[in-house]
Amino acid sequence: MQVLKFGGTSVASPERIIDIVRTSLGRDRTILVCSAISGCTDTLIRLGRLASARDESYLAGLEGLYDRHRQMMEGLLSADRLPEIRAEIDGLFDSLRGILHGVFLLGELSPASLDAVQSYGELFSTKILTAKFTALGIPCRWLDSRELVKTRDGVVDTALTYANVAAAVDSQPHTSLFIVPGFIASDVQGRVSTLGRGGSDYTASLVAVAVSARLVEIWTDVPGIMTSNPKTVPTARTIRNISYRAAQELSHFGAKVIFPPTIQPVINEGIPIYVKDTFDPDDPGTLVEKNPPRREEALLGIANSDKIALISLEGSGMVGIPGFSSRLFDALTRAGINIILITQASSVHTMCIAIAEADAPAAKRAADTCFAYEISLGKLQPLKVETGFSIVCLVGDDILGHSGATGRMLAALGARGIPVRATAQGSSERNISVIVASDKADEAIRAIHGEFFDRSPLQTVNLFVAGYGTVGKALIRMIRENHDVIARRTGKDLRICGLANSRRYLIDMEGVAPDQLPEGVAGSFFDALADLSPADSIVVDCTASEEPGLRYPQLFKAGFSVVACNKIPFSGNYENYAALTAAAARAHIGLRYETTVGAALPILAALDRLAESGDTLHCVEAVLSGTLNYLCDRYEGHDFAALVEEARQKGYTEPDPAIDLSGRDVLRKTLIMARVAGIPLEESDVHLEPFPAEAELATSYAAALAAGQRLRYVASLRCGVSDATPSVTVGLQAVGPDSPLYSLTGTDNCAVITTADYSSPLVIRGAGAGPRQTAAGVLQDILSI
Ligand code: ADP
Ligand code: ASP
Ligand code: MG
Repeated sequence: MQVLKFGGTSVASPERIIDIVRTSLGRDRTILVCSAISGCTDTLIRLGRLASARDESYLAGLEGLYDRHRQMMEGLLSADRLPEIRAEIDGLFDSLRGILHGVFLLGELSPASLDAVQSYGELFSTKILTAKFTALGIPCRWLDSRELVKTRDGVVDTALTYANVAAAVDSQPHTSLFIVPGFIASDVQGRVSTLGRGGSDYTASLVAVAVSARLVEIWTDVPGIMTSNPKTVPTARTIRNISYRAAQELSHFGAKVIFPPTIQPVINEGIPIYVKDTFDPDDPGTLVEKNPPRREEALLGIANSDKIALISLEGSGMVGIPGFSSRLFDALTRAGINIILITQASSVHTMCIAIAEADAPAAKRAADTCFAYEISLGKLQPLKVETGFSIVCLVGDDILGHSGATGRMLAALGARGIPVRATAQGSSERNISVIVASDKADEAIRAIHGEFFDRSPLQTVNLFVAGYGTVGKALIRMIRENHDVIARRTGKDLRICGLANSRRYLIDMEGVAPDQLPEGVAGSFFDALADLSPADSIVVDCTASEEPGLRYPQLFKAGFSVVACNKIPFSGNYENYAALTAAAARAHIGLRYETTVGAALPILAALDRLAESGDTLHCVEAVLSGTLNYLCDRYEGHDFAALVEEARQKGYTEPDPAIDLSGRDVLRKTLIMARVAGIPLEESDVHLEPFPAEAELATSYAAALAAGQRLRYVASLRCGVSDATPSVTVGLQAVGPDSPLYSLTGTDNCAVITTADYSSPLVIRGAGAGPRQTAAGVLQDILSI
């Protein structure tokens, strides 16, 4: 025998069920357990409530429900078969209408009446399916689970149920298909009862044990038990194999795909449960069994229970005095309240317990009555009740042996700024639970899922690029072009999640489309980023403006690293520079700005390493302006203004070329270079001569030519003996063939660094301007974090 159970969404697509059952019948005798069509039970409950509130609109609701079933009948059965089933369904609707009318007259919906009302959904669906199978010539028999499944005080009497089901099936040895309504039962007094919402799964496992079935299949609308509810976590994956215990734990903590009591009955019998997708029958789904194959990964999935209240007992009277916790538990048990989770040891002076929100008023009454005396003496406070919480629970086999799981879980939540109200672990070795505000629960689940289950071998690095000018554009193009090589070589999946120009920004953690920037949000990119604070994220400052630098400290606090080609934040007064680098170090945040000097040339890296290793800097002679070198190199025979414009168009100059010509750009680079080398240089320490105007340039050029020299705009930093402030000049110089600066061409930059160890200087030379060169340096900085 085999038991196949179909849930509400599946029943709403009966053709699927028919196909699957037909195939299964080729293998074995089958018991088909079905739910009501989706939404039907909810509707029935609503109608019961409306009727009890004397709201006549329940009649229209009933008509709507009839209509859905009429359509189902008409869709499945031919005209000649319709009258018979319609008569049967009409009869059921008449009796339901009678019950609702009684509820309406009484103005009261007792639990027994509610069960009676709810029971009709499964009757309708299974009766219609029985008519369909019969019409298809598949002999089948409808079994009335109200007579077979027996409850006593709300709990299934399993022995009686097994005996009833076995007798009913045994008496029909030639029937190969039985159809059984799920969810419904009757109590020992014969009144209709139900097994609780989602209870059809339980009917299936009870029936399976009764007939010693080979297997149970739970057919639903998802491809098995997954690492999380796929409606909350789009990246959830199917768990192929899972133990009975772990599946119980997941369902107990809210994985609705399987009703919690379902698994217990089959454990002793060892009957496997397959959870499968009605809409993709070939997918293997999940196999729940006693001893699943050993897995590398101990962690299984995340579940959540909502509408949780936290009740806490507080007061000095609890300290050191035994018995309070047992008295509280007793009081709650007597009030019929289920304790879901205890979040703190009872020895301290507060004890915090999670219960269902619906139980909170009864819990308060029970506790305040039980401790009335202590409360009157002021030794205890009245029970504190807080609502609006969810329990989010990470489940795995031997999860506590999984080193660091709790820490990683809390860190993942912390990184996204999700406050954790309480945690609990050790209530079983299979779960770690956190309690968060319900409006943060989905976010919390996604964060934990991301931490434990979404890890591909690649590490996603989220990039937020401020500035979409020549460098920003080149950078984004380069990241696109090189993405796969970078992923292969570094294991990093670079993703542009944010982009801004001075007016608008786009943010999307899945990635942004730069061409949509004009339709982006108008407002502060940095404000939006600080609110977001995602993990593994870098803000890339490709602007040439002041604002970003002012926001860096806030970004560091929010957990962002920063890569900048913007010189302004690093070339203001020294105190600001020092504060910025210290803030990054304090927050253990990466801060890189190699491209502020010499584009991608590793000038700052070299100076930093020399300083770190204790080498003593003697002097640096450097050509640091690609633009000005271009002008020096190409001046002869060219119109100066046209040459400047050419350099601007090629993307060498600053957005405003006057910044280059005034020497200001080189001044900024000189300050940064000195500071990285460990010299607290201020602008006032630098003797600056701007690039000369054309007439003066022509004279100098001719003189240099005559002397066999070339003009270079040089930053020269000469350190005195011991700690004396170095002499720093920036200006035009004529250099002879023996200088490494003599042979520079085009936009070359060059730094000639002389130190105690490098008496023959370290020369770093290469292209020092241009969007692609700068973008390449920015990209290298990004990858170095
Ligand atoms: P049925 O009507 O077939 O019984 P249910 O709605 O009771 O279906 O259960 C299936 C639903 O359970 C899925 O649609 C899914 O949204 C939800 N669900 C919650 N947690 C999980 C999980 N861990 N794996 C799969 N589905 C889950
Ligand atoms: N129809 C019932 C419900 O919606 C039982 C089930 O679907 O399993 O809760
Ligand atoms: Mg269900």
